[in-house]
Amino acid sequence: MLNINKNIFYWNILTKKEKIHVLSRPHINSNKNIKELVFKIIDNVKKHGDLALHSYNLEFDNFKCKSFYISRKKIDNSSNLVSKKFKDAISIALSNINNFHSKQILSDLIVETYPGVYCKHIYRPIQSVGLYVPKGNHPLVSTALMLSIPAKLAGCHNITLCSPPPISNEILYIAKILKIYTVLQLGGAHSIAALALGTETVKFVDKIFGPGNIFVTEAKLQVSQCSLTSIDMPAGPSEMLVIADDLSNPAFIASDLLSQAEHSQNSQVILLCTKNFIVKNVIKEIQKQLLLIPNKNIILHSLKNSRFIVVNSLKECFKISNLYSPEHLILHIKNSKNFLKYINNAGSVFLGKWTPGAAGDYITGANHVLPTYGYANSYSSLRVSDFQKIITVQKMTKIALQSLSKSIATLSLMEGMNAHNQSIVTRIKFL
Ligand code: NAD
Repeated sequence: MLNINKNIFYWNILTKKEKIHVLSRPHINSNKNIKELVFKIIDNVKKHGDLALHSYNLEFDNFKCKSFYISRKKIDNSSNLVSKKFKDAISIALSNINNFHSKQILSDLIVETYPGVYCKHIYRPIQSVGLYVPKGNHPLVSTALMLSIPAKLAGCHNITLCSPPPISNEILYIAKILKIYTVLQLGGAHSIAALALGTETVKFVDKIFGPGNIFVTEAKLQVSQCSLTSIDMPAGPSEMLVIADDLSNPAFIASDLLSQAEHSQNSQVILLCTKNFIVKNVIKEIQKQLLLIPNKNIILHSLKNSRFIVVNSLKECFKISNLYSPEHLILHIKNSKNFLKYINNAGSVFLGKWTPGAAGDYITGANHVLPTYGYANSYSSLRVSDFQKIITVQKMTKIALQSLSKSIATLSLMEGMNAHNQSIVTRIKFL
């Protein structure tokens, strides 16, 4: 029997140091080893290209192949190899994700900032993007949708989809319906290195998207510093924080926490509430519902990272939640939308008892690729504009330049920029 009672904390009797410890992410302590291992993997891919990729495919995924590329024929044929039930579910998810994301497409912005001075934003798709679709125990087919749909809506031309081998027919089916024909059977940190640095057969991309385990996330952070390839965000092992009030349903809360704990051994789930009885009831429910779940090894492992925190007030729950900056924040609170004003940091918020985290993972239409590790304090959930670049355009009329020339001269000479001033004087003389 799992003992999570030791993970119950009473916030107001904790010391400052204990509070920091309670809100710390798991696997932070092993970070140095992960950094070193990932550095070695990237370095090897840089030096040995495809050879290193083949050798890591064998070492980490027990997989041998002649080419990482999946043929167009195999991608096309995937629709004959997946069930109708699957296709129907995908079609609903696709429609909802498309509905929400198509409204995110930015249209050109133009402002006359001063008579005769125009500033404009134009948008261009990032030319080549790499999409990482994770696969630990199971391929995350839903992530393939979450990445491919905004990439297509933004108009990205060259899309490379990578996922650990052997790649499933379900992922190939997503590639087929979204017309993505560069699909590589490559996973882990070595696939990120290949996407950023390129090899004999893999073309490097401008930006890498997608969540992954600690190795994948660390690799994304490292390649973004040693190549011209940027990344969407640090989107590592999943996290959920639930805030519950006295009237909340413990069975619903327990089911949300368990569903998130299922993602990976390094996942973390946290419950914040104001009464001890809520914690006791939720823990009882967790024990009860665990009996109904087959293959619960991952859950049992990640529940060791769980936290059940009792605080003095609902307002304090939000303060702590903002400090933690959760990837998923679920409000099991009456009139939950009235509490949105207290939220500053969160990847995705789920309002009320009828909005389970699992629905957001698959079907609400919101993107499930979200910042973790506390990066929700400055990063946002994935959206179409992440696949676009904003280019600024400026234009002045002759009269506008004349009218602003004295101000430009004052500012440029104050900064000691004589050539700047000269560029204005030359034109004014010409007039
Ligand atoms: P993954 O594809 O990220 O990682 C699996 C790969 O890692 C393997 O194929 C292998 O190549 C490599 N690997 C495994 N063990 C290794 C080792 N010891 N050393 C080096 N490389 C190794 O799939 P996953 O493991 O299932 O992780 C997916 C993660 O993505 C989960 O933690 C899940 O919570 C998270 N996730 C996050 C979000 C988000 O938006 N933040 C969304 C979905 C999923």
